[in-house]
Amino acid sequence: MRSPASLEAWIGLGSNLGDREAHLRRAVERLAGLGILGRTSSLYETDPWGVPGQPPYLNAVVSLAPAAADPRAFLAQLQRIEREAGRVPGPRWGPRWGPRPLDLDLLFWGDLRLKSADLTLPHPEIPGRRFVLVPLAEVAPDLIHPDSGLIISRLLELCPDSGAVRLWGRPDRLRHPDPT
Ligand code: ATP
Ligand code: CA
Ligand code: CA
Repeated sequence: MRSPASLEAWIGLGSNLGDREAHLRRAVERLAGLGILGRTSSLYETDPWGVPGQPPYLNAVVSLAPAAADPRAFLAQLQRIEREAGRVPGPRWGPRWGPRPLDLDLLFWGDLRLKSADLTLPHPEIPGRRFVLVPLAEVAPDLIHPDSGLIISRLLELCPDSGAVRLWGRPDRLRHPDPT
């Protein structure tokens, strides 16, 4: 069995309410407490996906060697960070893909493939989302997507999504609490 320390988890971050950059920076700070932070992409400003008419998102991806051994426990930790950013779970918060101060999706847990009621790995929408594939291709172009066997840069070439993904800020904006 592989030790948890050698496993690489990838997290997709998004925010389109409030101080978006501050939400993402704070989230990275909190993620650093859940393991050893690895790679961090640049920040991208992106068209909303799924539900039109919302403000644009800031998106990024980071990798982490998680301290948690179980991806469900890790997802619960991510959801706690979302709530700290003011995200309210439940129907009051509106539809899936609606606006929120922070969304943390677990994209990969090593090469684990899993389908359960509350967790699917890899995240099932990766191949159809430029706002995930562009930042992933920046920092991990050769990462193999375990469902398709294709590498990220190839998935990006094949991606049918035409949503705009604009480079917005360097990765160090996420890694330093106060970039000034
Ligand atoms: P999407 O998952 O399509 O990006 P979303 O981020 O808007 O949509 P949420 O409302 O944040 O969706 O989450 C809905 C549910 O998705 C969560 O309660 C969680 O249990 C489930 N889920 C399943 N697989 C994953 C995953 N890989 N990462 C995060 N959440 C997941
Ligand atoms: Ca999401
Ligand atoms: Ca989510």
